[in-house]
Formats: sequence, structure tokens, C-alpha cells
Amino acid sequence: MQNITNKLIEWYSLHKRNLPWRETRNPYAIWVSEIILQQTRVNQGLGYYLKFMETFPDIHTLAAAPMDQLLKVWQGLGYYTRARNMHFTAQDIVQNYNGIFPNSYKDLIKLKGIGDYTASAIASISFKEPSPVLDGNVFRVIARIYGISESTQSAQGKKNFKGVLTKLIPHDKPGVFNQAIMEFGALQCTPKNPLCEECIFKSSCFALNNNLIDDLPRKKVKVKQTKRYFNFLHILYNDSTFVEQRTENDIWKLLYQFPLIETSSDYSLNELEKTNLWKQIFNNIKPQINLNYSEKKHQLSHQKLYVKFYEIRINTLNSYINKNFRKVSFRELENLGIPILLENYLADFNK
Ligand code: SF4
Repeated sequence: MQNITNKLIEWYSLHKRNLPWRETRNPYAIWVSEIILQQTRVNQGLGYYLKFMETFPDIHTLAAAPMDQLLKVWQGLGYYTRARNMHFTAQDIVQNYNGIFPNSYKDLIKLKGIGDYTASAIASISFKEPSPVLDGNVFRVIARIYGISESTQSAQGKKNFKGVLTKLIPHDKPGVFNQAIMEFGALQCTPKNPLCEECIFKSSCFALNNNLIDDLPRKKVKVKQTKRYFNFLHILYNDSTFVEQRTENDIWKLLYQFPLIETSSDYSLNELEKTNLWKQIFNNIKPQINLNYSEKKHQLSHQKLYVKFYEIRINTLNSYINKNFRKVSFRELENLGIPILLENYLADFNK
């Protein structure tokens, strides 16, 4: 065991990428980096991290920031619930912990949006608590080296992987070890074509020696995808357009979007015009519809979106539009948090 630990730490000291969050033990910075990296690769996440830290350099700035500003900085990262949870937790820490991050796994995990992985990462890196992290990279490295075929999807599987890691993690450098094993999974023991030929575990790796690299770690059960059909109405009125804010517990909560008609299947324009919502929105108005609408597919983790944008010009307003939508200029729209899908549409539209 000790041998594996030392080899991993030595490998890390030679091969680690130099990243800003590796230069600090500040729990706020570690927290921000870990949440961002949960949903993006390091290369892409780096830009988001730098922008986030520049805009919200500490927990107090984040806690005091308007939600719209946070969502704008987060725009494109997806999983907006994580941003909202960060905002909540920043306020929680300022109000209830004197602005000081809790310094143990057991207290960190009580905070909203901080689960087992993030609590372990912060506790080990910032406070030297020997709490092992278990993410996809770690899971893969351990499954292959030890030949463990259990899935981490089950509570028992998770417990067993944690058991192995608890024996490996050194008490003097738990944060370095956690980062080392994650980096090893990201750079050396990759999901496809791991670099086994030049691997430090070549002679003892169970998966390599038993020809099981493609079978380990055990594949996850495929999550069922839901199909959704979104029809966005890009309504143009003089130099303005209209947006609504998503408030339901659904994707993109609190982001802005064009007025949306969600349908149960792929509706033609003709069918769309017969929906109640369409009739309410355009009551007493003669919309001029640009039939060159734009159609896109968008894949989220559990949902596949079939999206249409209709460009519609109107010359008068009605009470439904005034009451339900916010009129914005194009400049104002640029400062609102919108889903990346709309941002891409607008980029095309403005060309
Ligand atoms: S030998 Fe290959 S599969 Fe085994 S730990 Fe090294 S890179 Fe991973």
C-alpha cells in the first residue's frame, strides 16, 4: 500500500500541471475550483475559475453579489443549480460562520451543494484531514490497479473503494495524495488508451496483467434520456425583444430566455399557432413570422432538447405580453444570464 502511495506522490511531483488552485490552500479558492471542475475539463475550467476569482475574490464578495451577476459569470458551464447553491452557501458562511470556512469534513458536508467529494477535497487540501476523494478518475485508477469490479453507484461499492483509499492516504500529505491520484487518472490512466507502457504500476496493475482495461471500471448503467421540445419566440418590437425568467425547479432555473412554448412532440408552426399559449401571447396582434426559423438539438445530462427559434416581428403590444414578459434592449440582453443555447442562437442572429 505504502509503495503505491509514495509512487503516486512522486509521479505527481514530476508530472502535475501547474494550475492556480494548486498554488493555494485557501478553502474558498479550493471550493470554487472543485465545483467548476466537476462539470468541465481543466482546460476549459481554468478560464471560468480565473474569471470567477477575479469577479468574486472572496466569500464576502460572492455572498453580496446579485444572482444575475453570478449566473452571467457561470454562463456556459451548465448545472446552474451548483452556482445557486454556491451563492446560498457563501451567504450561509458569512451569516452563520463569521465568514470563515468550516475546517472539517463533518462540518463542510453540512453546507448546501457540498457533497462527499467536495468536502473531502477541501478538508484534505486546506486542512490536512486524511479524507479520501472518490471521483471518476480515482474510481478508475483504483478499479484497474486492484481489479475491483464493483460499481460506485451502490452504497456498498462506494464504501469498499473508500476502504482501499483510507489505507492509502498518508496523514502527513492527504491533500497532495488526493490531487495526485486524480491527476494520475486524468493524465496517465485515462478512460481510453491509458499510457500503460510507461506506467509506474505496469508490473503490478491487475487490469493490465489480466487484459481487463476496457472492462474496468465497471460501466455505469445508462441513464434514460427524456426528450423535450422547446419552441422559443424571438419577438422583435422596435429595437427591443422580450424575455422571461425561469423560476420552476427545472433546468436553467433563474436564467432568462425568450418566451417559450414547450410542446409534447415536434410541432409544426401550424400546430404551434393553435396552442392556447400562442393565442394568448399574440391576442389582438398580427405577428409577422420569419419562417427561416433556426432549429437545434441540445444534449443535457438526462435530457435531449429539440429546440426551435421563431423570429417574429410585432408592431403593437397587448396586456399578456406586458404582464408576463420583460422588454429588453439587445444591450440589456447581453448582461442577463441566458442558457448557452440562446447565446449561440444570438451570435448567429447578430452575424
Ligand atoms: S498500467 Fe495502465 S491501467 Fe494500470 S494503472 Fe497504469 S495506466 Fe492504468
